[in-house]
Amino acid sequence: MTIDIDKEYQKIKAANELLKSKIFEQKFNNARNVVILYEDGTDTTLQVIDIMDENYQIPLLKTSSICLRENIQNLVKKNHDELVDLKSLNSTIINHYEKGSIPDPLMTVSEWADKYRRLTTKTSSIPGRWKTSNTPYLKKIMDCLSVSSPFEQIIFMKASQIGATEAGNNFMGYAIHHVPGPMLYVLPTIESVKRASKNRIASMIEESPVLSSRVAQPRSRDSSNTVLMKEFPGGSLSMTGANSSTGLREIPVRYLFLDEVDAYPYDVSTEGDPISLAIKRTQTFLGKRKIFIISTPTLKGFSRIEKAFKETDQQYYHVPCPDCGEKQPIVWSQIKWDKDNPETTHFVCKHCGSMIPESEKDGMLEKGEWIASCKSTNSKTIGFHLNALYSPTRWFPWKDVVKEYIAAKDDPAMIKTFVNTNLGETYDEPSTQVDGNLLYYRRESYDVEVPNDVLVITAGVDVQGDRLEAEAVGWNEHKESWSIDYRIFWGDPDQPEVWEALDEWLLREWKHATNHRLQIQVACIDLGGHHTQQVYSFCKFRRRRALAIKGVAGMGRVIVSSPSKKRTGNEQRPVPLYTVGVDTAKEVLYSRLLKTEYGSGYCHFPNSEPPYSEQYFQQLTAEKLITKSAHGAPRPVWELPSGRRNEALDCRVYAMAALELLRPDYNHWKEFLATEAMDDSQREYFARKEKVMARLLGTSRKKPRKVSSSWMKDVLDGPIGRGE
Ligand SMILES: [Zn+2]
Repeated sequence: MTIDIDKEYQKIKAANELLKSKIFEQKFNNARNVVILYEDGTDTTLQVIDIMDENYQIPLLKTSSICLRENIQNLVKKNHDELVDLKSLNSTIINHYEKGSIPDPLMTVSEWADKYRRLTTKTSSIPGRWKTSNTPYLKKIMDCLSVSSPFEQIIFMKASQIGATEAGNNFMGYAIHHVPGPMLYVLPTIESVKRASKNRIASMIEESPVLSSRVAQPRSRDSSNTVLMKEFPGGSLSMTGANSSTGLREIPVRYLFLDEVDAYPYDVSTEGDPISLAIKRTQTFLGKRKIFIISTPTLKGFSRIEKAFKETDQQYYHVPCPDCGEKQPIVWSQIKWDKDNPETTHFVCKHCGSMIPESEKDGMLEKGEWIASCKSTNSKTIGFHLNALYSPTRWFPWKDVVKEYIAAKDDPAMIKTFVNTNLGETYDEPSTQVDGNLLYYRRESYDVEVPNDVLVITAGVDVQGDRLEAEAVGWNEHKESWSIDYRIFWGDPDQPEVWEALDEWLLREWKHATNHRLQIQVACIDLGGHHTQQVYSFCKFRRRRALAIKGVAGMGRVIVSSPSKKRTGNEQRPVPLYTVGVDTAKEVLYSRLLKTEYGSGYCHFPNSEPPYSEQYFQQLTAEKLITKSAHGAPRPVWELPSGRRNEALDCRVYAMAALELLRPDYNHWKEFLATEAMDDSQREYFARKEKVMARLLGTSRKKPRKVSSSWMKDVLDGPIGRGE
């Protein structure tokens, strides 16, 4: 087909003049590309004009190019950026152009959210229109994400409960509706992003009409809306997990949202740091891209969000004191309360000493402003820090933060969570070096097998080539622990004998200080090594009591996660396999071993030797947390020095996992232990009675049968062992 280029050009020029005049009439004062699309019988023509705001010192009419639809492919190859804008604007511009109107002037993300974002009761405690004024501190952050802002990287290091996710949602909605382009949303794992897509993002689209009209219904057969990909006129939203290298390597993106980066893996399929991989995809859009990086921080020295934040101008939100008017950030050290009475919580002005009640907070937030605390090394990057003390009172009042602090303050593992999620700061591990000798010398005498404060017992079992090792650990409701027994069962795990010995030990009763007898509630057995089949078979017939587990390395994992079901051989019923985040468990354990005062988290050891010998403590404290550098990012790694053994550490970690899986009802056990226990003679009598009942009623192995009264008398009155 031949095209009369001159004729086409004249047509476009005429239309273009018209459009330009309309644009100028309206004092269109923001930047954007404009596309005009003509349907001309058999062919389609497109025109691209860049009209830029004078503030950006870019000519209002930068380029003018004509191309035919059949040439789009060439254009794509030449300039991908242009294609995106072609796609993005052709529907809106043509629509407005035909109606003789021009599109909305460019808005900021907060203006967009106030105008278009709707919330329903499903996702918000305050349904209705989104109001930026409810969380005034988010305004500037959102506005930096607007295309009219010069910043390309926006870093947000934050606590939970302050609405950061909503700022991100607004950014996504804005990109879908107002300035469409290719967008990528990354969460730590594929599973987490699928959940977010099905719940949070699907709700956002459904609730706001301007979004639901642009994104296809998820139920339709249209493949343009799947869990991991939403297409809309002018762009697409792809979603992936930081653990997927393919998801991070696909098409170029203009908008990149990296969420919860401190939980990202350090290395994705050996291709390197997922953040760098994702940022590489924005290269084509240099100068126009928007990269939003947010996270609650984790460990000091390893936190990615802290590292990124430190490279910015580090802005903090300053609020005015209602008394002296001086502006200052709301910091934890200025939050005060009367001992053990969180209801008295208030903020102390660092300038005039005035005690400011919580009721003043929302008013102070309104008048707040972001202030940089240093100079940024990169003018395209801006960083914000916010703790949970800024959370609007109705979401998370100061007194609740204080209550969480009081509950956490004695447990190193809980205080770490408090510092990360409420203060939005990294946690500086006091030390991960535990002195095994010190633990050996502070062993205690228990007097009884199981001390009085123990409520439940769990066990961890490590499988080695020629033996099983196991520890039984007692716990109270504050996760204070008492080592009860450590055993080594020698024998080939391919043979049944060693498992029978373990079984006997797992089923035995332990004498509690109250005279009650306790049993091991749950044992976790490690599947690692070469005896997986034996472990499965063992666990299969002891369903709830013995659980197969597999340790997985990686900081930031939960201690136990939901099981996968494994079928073994020809068996019909699958055996659940639980995953244990061993690195996290070791971190928690070592912080507890460092505790020197009795109470929550403290670890007690008996002075019975063996098994609690110096060698046991050397194994328990064998591993060290060291820093390794991989692809330029430091990562914490647990390392076992060569020549050291660590079975005792593994057993303890599995016993901790068993407690997590058990989730005991501590009150039930307290009530049980408070009842009067049988003494030895009563216990013996009941054992005899049970034996008679078993004979009369039958057991799983024996059929019921008649017994003579003399046999019964013998059993009940005579020495144990008679009457068999
Ligand atoms: Zn003051």
